Parts: sequence; C-alpha cells; structure tokens
Amino acid sequence: MSSAHNSSRDTRAATDSAAGHPPVQDASQDIHHRLDELRAMRILVAAAADEGAAPIGAMLSHDGFTQVVSAQNGDEALQALRSSLDFGARPIDLLLLDVATTQFDGHALCRAIRRQPVWTDMPIILIRQRGTWREDMLPGSFAAGATDILLRPVQRAELIPRVISALLLKKERDMRRQHESELETELAERKVMEARLQYLVSHDDLTGLFNRRRLELALEDAIANGHASGRAAALLYVDLDQFKVINDLEGHAVGDRLLMSVANILRKQLGAHDILARVSSDEYAVLIEDTDEAAALTRAEALRTAIDEYRFHSEDRNYHVCASIGVALILPHEDINASEALARSSQACFEAKTHGRNLVHLFNKDDVETNILRHAADWVPRIREALAHDRFCMFFQPVIELPGGRVVGYEALIRMRDAEGGLVTPDRFIPVAERMGLIHDIDLWVVQHAIDVLARLPASQSGLTLNVNLSIHAFQDPALFPLVRDKLVHSGVSADRITFEITETAAVASYDQTRNMINRLRELGCRFALDDFGTGFSSFNYLKQFPVDYLKIDGSFIRNLLNDPVDQRLVRSMIEVGRTLGKVVVAEFVENAEILALLEEYGVNRAQGNFIGEPLPEIPPG
Ligand code: C2E
Ligand code: MG
Ligand code: MG
Repeated sequence: MSSAHNSSRDTRAATDSAAGHPPVQDASQDIHHRLDELRAMRILVAAAADEGAAPIGAMLSHDGFTQVVSAQNGDEALQALRSSLDFGARPIDLLLLDVATTQFDGHALCRAIRRQPVWTDMPIILIRQRGTWREDMLPGSFAAGATDILLRPVQRAELIPRVISALLLKKERDMRRQHESELETELAERKVMEARLQYLVSHDDLTGLFNRRRLELALEDAIANGHASGRAAALLYVDLDQFKVINDLEGHAVGDRLLMSVANILRKQLGAHDILARVSSDEYAVLIEDTDEAAALTRAEALRTAIDEYRFHSEDRNYHVCASIGVALILPHEDINASEALARSSQACFEAKTHGRNLVHLFNKDDVETNILRHAADWVPRIREALAHDRFCMFFQPVIELPGGRVVGYEALIRMRDAEGGLVTPDRFIPVAERMGLIHDIDLWVVQHAIDVLARLPASQSGLTLNVNLSIHAFQDPALFPLVRDKLVHSGVSADRITFEITETAAVASYDQTRNMINRLRELGCRFALDDFGTGFSSFNYLKQFPVDYLKIDGSFIRNLLNDPVDQRLVRSMIEVGRTLGKVVVAEFVENAEILALLEEYGVNRAQGNFIGEPLPEIPPG
C-alpha cells in the first residue's frame, strides 16, 4: 500500500517537472539570481567620511553589492544624483542618507530630492544617531520623503535586509512604470492609427485631397458659418473634359498622373482658407467661404484658365487639357444642405459641358427645372403607361444566413418593362417618380405584389421572408398601414415574413414624421431594415433609438473589401456597432467567394450579392 503511494508521488514529481514546474532546487537558484540582480543596483551612500560612509559602504561591498557610490555632503549627494541622470549613466536606485552627522540637514535634502519627479520612486533610508531618537521625529522624516529609518550603530544584519527590501520595492515599481509606459505607447500608437484611419476615410488616396465625405462635412460647416456671418460661400465643381480619352489611350498609370497634375494646378490657385476635394474620378470641387458672386466667378475663371494653359506630356505626346466648371453660390439665409449644394454645382457643371466645354457656368434654378422637365417629359408618360399596363415586375435576390449559407429570404427589386420589352432598373425611374408624384402608386404596387408573391409560395417555402424597398414617402402615407394590415389578413401571410427596407439617409431625414407608422407596422409584426447603412454616418446614439431589426451595410463598403484596409476597418466597426445594439447585420454586394469568407470571419449574420445569387424573375422552388 505504502509503496504504491510512494511510487505515485514519484510519478507526479516527474511529470510536474516535465510539465515545466520548477523543482525546489530551481526555486532557490531563482532567488539567488534575483539577489544578484538586486546587488547590481546602484546605491548612493551620503555620509561624512570620518563618521559613516566607509563602514556602510564596506558592509555593502562585503555583501556583494557592486554599484555603491558615496557622497560626503548634501551638495555632493545632489551632484551624484544629477549625474546619474546623464545620458548613458545608470540612475541611482537607493539613497542611504546619514543624518547622524552635522554636515547637512537631511530632511531638507530629502525634500529637495522628492521635489524632482524623476526621484519620487527612489527609496531613501535615513540613518540616525541612536541617542537622538525621539518618537516625534518619525512623522517629520517620513513627511520629508524618507521611506525607512535605521539607527546607529548600523549592524550588518540589520542593514542588508533593509537595503534588499528597499531595492526589491524599487525594482517592482520600475517594472510597473515600464509596463505603464508601454501601455501608454500602445495607446498612443492606437491613436495614431485612428488618426490615420480618419485621414484615409476623409482623403482621396491618389491625390491626398479631401474626398467627397470630408467635403460634405466642410460644406455643412461653411453653411453654418454663412448663417452666422451673413456672408456667402461658393462651391466650384470642376470636371476635366478629356480625362476619359487620355485614360483610355494612355492607360491608368498615365491617367493617375494627369489627375495628380491637375490636383497640383488647382492647389496652386487656392487661398489659405479654401478647400479642395476630389469628388469622383475626374471631378474636383473647391469650396470658397466669405465670397460673393462676382468674386466666385473670377476665381472659377482663374481655375479654368490655369488648366487650359497646362499641357500634359506623355512620352512624345502632348495633350491640351481643359475643364468645365460649375459654380453654386451658397447664400447666407438659404436653407440648403451639403448634398444640395453639391448637386447644384454639378448641375451647373453639366450645363457648362452642354454649352460647349472649357466654360464656367453659374448655377441657375431654371436650368435644373428645365433639366428635370426634359428628363421627366420622357419618363413620366413611360411610368404612367407602365402603371396602367401593369408593366412593373419584381426580381428576387437571395439572402443567406452565415455561417451555413441557408437561404432565409429574398430581396424584392422592382423593374420596369419598356414598350420594347426591355428591362429598366429602378435607378432610372424611381428618382423621377419621386419628384413627379408617381412614387405613391409604385409603392402601393410593390406592397401588394410582395404580399401576393409570399401568399403564392408553396407550404415548403413558408419560412421564406421578403425584403421590400419602399420610398420614404410611403411611410408618410396614412393609407400604407391599413393596406398592409388588410392585405396580410386576406392573404394569410404572417407579418414577420415582410421586412421593409428604409435607407439610412431617408430614415434620418424623416424619422420624426415616420416614427408612428414604423412603430405601428412593427407592432403588426413586420420587420425593418436600415438599408445602405454607413452612407448616412448616423451617430451611435441615433442608431440606438432607431427601431430596426437589421442593418444592411452599404454595398460600396463591401465591393472592394479585399483590397481596401479602410473599408475593412469600417465594416468591422459597423458589425461591432450592430452586434452591440443587438441587430442582425447584413452585407450586400457580395461579388466573390473571398469577400464572403472575410465577412463570415468578421461575424456578419447575413449576406446577399451577385456571387450568392443574382436577382431572378422568380423565387426558385425550394
Ligand atoms: P438596394 O435596396 O440597396 O438594392 C441593392 C441593389 O444592388 C440592387 O440594384 C441589386 O440588383 C444590386 N446588387 C445586388 N447584388 C449586387 C452585386 O453583387 N453587385 C452589384 N454591383 N450590384 C448588386 P437595383 O435592383 O438596381 O436597385 C437599386 C436601388 O433601387 C435599390 O437599392 C433600392 O434602393 C431601389 N429599389 C429597388 N427596388 C425598389 C422598389 O421596389 N421600390 C423602391 N422605392 N425602390 C426600389
Ligand atoms: Mg434594399
Ligand atoms: Mg442597399
């Protein structure tokens, strides 16, 4: 019995040591090693030579301390401490301060040392004459900064353990300090990284200019400044006339060089407070504050001339480059936002192009009206006809669950069939329909049709859900709620199979007016998704209140995910925001397997896109 017990203990000892637990002998070696480290720390003994330094120093050396220095008086002690801070010198780790002599005032020296931040951690052991010891000295000594007191005559057996424990404390503090400073560095690095990310998010990679997002922020500021100062601002929209030709003929590298050259020409024309941005591939914008119409037009003309005079060389070819410039004035009392200002300036730029290029054109409301009317004149009858002849149809794009890949539902995407039977995508006709008051009928068609589609699915597909895109006007229409409710009742479709998609920008702009409708539809059981999430830059607080079940990260962040570290950071933080708020996060525009794998790794809950499945005219049988 007993032998069995012993043998099991032996086995355990063997496995312990094999598993890396140091046996007792190693522990004592470790202590020796640590004591050696302490003995190599620097000690300053400040005492008058005749009375103390030599014997104390001798005791320390005898005990193996190798770095002991001495000072004869207060000045020398301070000097020794200071020079220990010189570059390359080793700092003093412990001060033994003999105040038994009358050579200097030990308390005053202690206080002087403690006033220096570099020495706040250094232990100081005061040495006093036994005969002078009084109880009431203690508070004074510790208040002056002493960490310990020794009485004379100093015994080796007392001195060495006190020195060792003081040095141990010092070492621990040093390590903690070092750890703290490493953490600070890490934090600082993270800040730098965030600043860099901020830079990337707001700047154009190629030219280093502000990008559209950053320009929009600057525009919002300029509009607010104008309200406050009563002064106008101007936005100049610059579009290169020949970029596409040069880019096609010479290739992208040369095209990039041209874009950078133009950025530099524009930069040279800027005033100290102007803002220059690149807003799309060959389009730039200049924001000028505190100006008026005449001054803004003069500035635009100067930009146009500078580009016109420039010659772009590529090998032996010489290109004449010119630009069309649209100018939009932002008047101080006008109620306008950044995207409207941008739209006006680009509209004016478009006019400059249609009037013959290499021109400056000032925005004029009538131009826009003419344009919309021109466009609408074509489209309104086509939309009306499509409504009348039921020429709308729906395509369905599958949405899968991650991980796993099971199809959980479809997004319904509207299409219009034109007279020749060709399919027209919604970006062509929805904006016109919204402007010309036809969207209402389209929205109603979409709701009814979507519920019909669900009702017709076989029982085996009764678990599928349908995502329905509605214009923001729909949620302001009191007829929507009864329509949805009655249609659901009659068809027997369960409300939780419908998810309404509402775009982030529309949601933000009109939430107060639509809140009631959204809440009632949710009470019915319908779900809501915030579409194009990330494009509206909603604040976290805003999102917290917004009653949606799904966040659909906008496709523009997903499309280049593999190669764009900024998009990667943004998508990860959007997923994190979604998770924190308890929302299901969906990614759209998944165009290949690598993107899908990355999204799955990031923890996206659902995905859709042409790689997973292109929009189809029918929901495939399950
Ligand atoms: P959305 O709701 O963000 O819809 C996604 C769009 O991305 C769809 O375009 C879809 O075909 C497209 N898409 C899906 N996967 C990919 C992909 O991997 N790569 C690329 N490049 N594109 C992909 P679509 O059908 O042209 O719709 C455009 C927008 O029109 C929709 O954006 C939505 O805002 C609006 N829309 C669509 N259907 C309706 C509708 O019934 N009513 C209303 N009011 N708006 C609709
Ligand atoms: Mg959508
Ligand atoms: Mg979307």
